[in-house]
Amino acid sequence: MASKRYAQVNRERCVSCGACTHECPRDAIHVWKGCFALVDSDLCVGCGRCQRTCPANCIDMKEREAAV
Ligand code: SF4
Ligand code: SF4
Repeated sequence: MASKRYAQVNRERCVSCGACTHECPRDAIHVWKGCFALVDSDLCVGCGRCQRTCPANCIDMKEREAAV
């Protein structure tokens, strides 16, 4: 059930705009206390929508090590 990829935010570059949070079909990404976006990797299905919408280009897609 777990996807092979998940999103990870570069906190230093995130500008807390919240655009990614509106794109996520799984409600897996939120801006933490107005500081930076955080991904719940358990919910993330690796669709990449947040990455494509991020104006700061600060979301990377990572491979899950335990993926089968
Ligand atoms: S990759 Fe898809 S599921 Fe994961 S946080 Fe981004 S928009 Fe949500
Ligand atoms: S879209 Fe990018 S810059 Fe905006 S809150 Fe999400 S990760 Fe941060």
